[in-house]
Amino acid sequence: MGKSSKDKRDLYYRKAKEEGWRARSAFKLLQLNDQFQLFKGVRRVVDLCAAPGSWSQVLSRELYENNKDNEVPPKIVAVDLQPMAPIDGVTTLQADITHPKTLSKILEIFGGEPADFVCSDGAPDVTGLHDLDEYIQAQLILAALQLTTCLLRPGGTFVAKIFRGRDIDLMYSQLGFLFDKVICAKPRSSRGTSLEAFIVCLGYKPSSTWKPSLDLNVSTEDFFKGANIGRYELNDELHYEEESRNVAPFIACGDLSSYDSDATYTLDNYISRISLEPVQGPTAPPYKKALELKRKGEIKR
Ligand code: SAM
Repeated sequence: MGKSSKDKRDLYYRKAKEEGWRARSAFKLLQLNDQFQLFKGVRRVVDLCAAPGSWSQVLSRELYENNKDNEVPPKIVAVDLQPMAPIDGVTTLQADITHPKTLSKILEIFGGEPADFVCSDGAPDVTGLHDLDEYIQAQLILAALQLTTCLLRPGGTFVAKIFRGRDIDLMYSQLGFLFDKVICAKPRSSRGTSLEAFIVCLGYKPSSTWKPSLDLNVSTEDFFKGANIGRYELNDELHYEEESRNVAPFIACGDLSSYDSDATYTLDNYISRISLEPVQGPTAPPYKKALELKRKGEIKR
């Protein structure tokens, strides 16, 4: 299958290249912002798991480029394991969001001030072992949440990619303990056939007894210890009762007239024959090293 056929199959992929976004994910953040006005009044923002950087591009355009008259520029920090090509107004950090030092580096850039908005589009490399993949994804969300609780100002917003698996309602309850409103949002640019969605958590309101912590050795359940959410209790009559869990409202966002990410569109013949180059080539793709070794004759295949 050629590059141009992918351009046809996935209109968001093509549109991203036409509009200069490094990845089609840009449309997800744009559609989430259309629905929830996430960027209103935001001066300090952290984009976790940011490479190749389309969300950071959106943040740069909306907060930096569109407000150049502002005397104090906003602070946008993008963090990823992978190196990222520079973006105007964005400080990039090549770091692991599960590592405690990452928090101090972000706080240093913010001069000790808290963030107004933290977003995470994190996804680990898939191993194909379903249970392991689900576990790693859950750990990544927990790491993003732990960082957020240490960084966000009261009233601030947290948005993160989730996969709507079996225990997702438990996560909504846990987040409801920390935020005023928790919504599960599905932008139109996110494929309907995928379990991917985004939790939009508005109004951070940690209780006075809440101690933000950064420790991935604790389970999600222990992280929320004291919140008393979703635990099974053995009552006198020897049957288990589960505490009620929250159901987060589910909102599909993006204009109904916007493209359907699962549909195949027909471009006019001339356009469909022109394949567009990627906006930003990979900075350090894993195949680069393999090619180098092959050139030196150190690997055969
Ligand atoms: N939002 C990005 C954009 O718009 O270009 C796309 C993010 S991509 C779907 C997921 C990213 O998560 C990858 O770049 C990966 O390197 C990053 N990631 C996974 N685990 C991470 C970790 N522990 N720390 C930092 N980044 C991580």
